[in-house]
Amino acid sequence: MAVPKRKTSKARRDKRRNSHWKLSLPGMAKCPKCGEMKLSHRMCKACGYYNGREVVKTQEA
Ligand SMILES: [Zn+2]
Repeated sequence: MAVPKRKTSKARRDKRRNSHWKLSLPGMAKCPKCGEMKLSHRMCKACGYYNGREVVKTQEA
């Protein structure tokens, strides 16, 4: 088994972990219809659309 030659310093370890800090939840995408943030592969909860058609009827016309 390959073993690291040197211990990773606290600064290097923390820098590495800091770089892939997620600002938003994974799988978030902008709705093409209303521009709201939505979960990808799920219908938009703001306008009720998914894949270019209305899936759920929403209050506003
Ligand atoms: Zn939408």
